[in-house]
Amino acid sequence: MHALNRALLSVVSATALFAATAHAQTAPAAAPPPPEYSKVEIKTTDLGNKTYMLEGQGGNITVAVGDDAVLMVDTQFAPLHDKIKAAVTKISPLPLKTVINTHYHGDHTGGDGLFAKDGAVVLAHDNVKKRMTEGTSNPVTGAKTPPALDRLPTKTYTDKVDVELKGRKVQVGHPANAHTDGDTYVFFPDSNVLATGDIVSIFEGRYPNVDVGVTGNINGIIAAVAGYIKLSNDQTKVVPGHGPILNKARLQEYHDLMASARDAVQKAMAGKTEDETVAAKPLAAIDPKVKSTPEASANFVRMIYKSLKT
Ligand SMILES: [Zn+2]
Repeated sequence: MHALNRALLSVVSATALFAATAHAQTAPAAAPPPPEYSKVEIKTTDLGNKTYMLEGQGGNITVAVGDDAVLMVDTQFAPLHDKIKAAVTKISPLPLKTVINTHYHGDHTGGDGLFAKDGAVVLAHDNVKKRMTEGTSNPVTGAKTPPALDRLPTKTYTDKVDVELKGRKVQVGHPANAHTDGDTYVFFPDSNVLATGDIVSIFEGRYPNVDVGVTGNINGIIAAVAGYIKLSNDQTKVVPGHGPILNKARLQEYHDLMASARDAVQKAMAGKTEDETVAAKPLAAIDPKVKSTPEASANFVRMIYKSLKT
């Protein structure tokens, strides 16, 4: 077994799956306090075959180096641009020519405008541009996301798109209505690395977010994760939107957890209003696995309820 694989297996040990992540929040889509960007350090993890994960503040970043250019998945926050750029330059002196966004949320797209200014094409699903142009609001948390006209994607796609990175294979796909309505995954078959975006997110103390304000849907998340499992084998390194690297077995565990939460809410909501369903605490048996706070559990019930009502 390679040292890398051993390291990955230790990273994704069962206790780590739902416990290890950087930033606890109680409300899924509520704006966290502004991070102290000057104190953030970018950590680089080599995933093999010229593919890397960067962690700083916000969503995980995946970097792939081709023969003549670098491709990056997601950009975290604008104030981290210089640090992220320095980390990428340390990996490779080649120009960063392509950024792919996994979805519109600001902790994944914040640096887009600056990387575009540096010369990168910023590629995303059509609905990323739509949501960043119009702004959004979350009916569960009440959080409002203003338009982000200064950092719109420079290239968008509807169903399928070919991404070229010389010397590498890149597969890009759009799972329908899952974490948001504009999700994109990126798979690098030659390094066996899958960047999932926030469809797979491991948080301390809460469930992942379903952005029901933009027709995100729990059933779409479950279907997308099932697709990710199909894409994977036992050596696949899965870079989630948040949290540590997963392997296929942990992906299955995550899938089953989401499905059991969906089933529990579906059962509880029969003949009940949203508030009555929340009051029935249908996730009580699952909450300890996620170490969920009561508020985060209630929010996730609302997200599932709204998903299943549409
Ligand atoms: Zn997100």
